[in-house]
Amino acid sequence: MDMGRRVVIALGGNAIKQPDEWGTAEEQMRNVRTACRQIARIIRRGYEVVLTHGNGPQVGNLAIQQEQAKDLVPPQPLVVLGAMTQGQIGYLFQQALRNELADLKRPVVTVVTQVLVDSEDPDFRDPHKPVGPFYEEGEARVLMEERGWVMRRVRPDAKGWRRVVPSPRPLAIIEGEAVKRMVDDGMIVIASGGGGIPVIMRDGRLEGIDAVIDKDLAGEVLAEEVGADIFLILTDVDCVRLDYGKPSERPIRRMTLEEAKRYHSEGHFPPGSMGPKVEACIRFLEHGGERAVIASLEEGFEALEGEAGTQITRG
Ligand code: ADP
Ligand code: MG
Repeated sequence: MDMGRRVVIALGGNAIKQPDEWGTAEEQMRNVRTACRQIARIIRRGYEVVLTHGNGPQVGNLAIQQEQAKDLVPPQPLVVLGAMTQGQIGYLFQQALRNELADLKRPVVTVVTQVLVDSEDPDFRDPHKPVGPFYEEGEARVLMEERGWVMRRVRPDAKGWRRVVPSPRPLAIIEGEAVKRMVDDGMIVIASGGGGIPVIMRDGRLEGIDAVIDKDLAGEVLAEEVGADIFLILTDVDCVRLDYGKPSERPIRRMTLEEAKRYHSEGHFPPGSMGPKVEACIRFLEHGGERAVIASLEEGFEALEGEAGTQITRG
């Protein structure tokens, strides 16, 4: 019923690195291959696909490398690390998808993607997203002084300090039009990885800024800009739950936009995990999207076909 429809698929961290893994190149390629078998089923079914993905563990590891090697090579700023992980992860998906779909000869391409944020976003005044290595208090004070970082004590132990950065709301995808034209032309596109490279507009010019944009919220803006019919979020749980983690926990198989808003306002979806996913789905439907789905990676195809996960519609 949904063949020929356009879908933006937001892949969670587990599509690239499992929590118990170290994050070697081999491990990550193996995970991406598994994810791409699912994506390939979706593409073979006739859906037009745009992929987006997280980059938390990858950008965290790169940040550690920058600091450990800072006396040998200049550490690159967080915003550049974002671009680096888009290339790194995009490569894995391009290769795995090409191999999986070799007979189709469809072009697969990654777009290094900048995402516009507001320099007045309230998060810039109160950054709270921890990134990179842990430090002792003395080291943290030096970094605050020398690099202007905001550091916070995030654990009570000696090495309990960490850099925190803002997590502003995504406003627009700078390369959105480019991605749309590629999809119109039949390409499979990977874009807005890690929530995109955060940029602000200053005196009419783009400028990169150290921040982390939520990948589900950025994926939603991307979905709007490419004219997606469906927004599919694939993560590590089979569906959304009410009273998650409580004895009264129960699965939600379908909900309307109004129900999603009500459950969210009742506190069922915490910030940093299910909260932004449900918010992204709400926004997508409010901005004309037809259907939003939250499901596990393993059931991605079935969920897109309406047979698994949590289906959210305007109702
Ligand atoms: P991803 O890397 O895919 O973005 P997250 O860890 O950010 O994944 O979010 C998925 C997690 O959200 C699940 O593993 C689950 O533990 C958690 N979660 C929180 N609240 C809920 C809820 N109400 N229903 C289902 N999962 C929830
Ligand atoms: Mg996660």
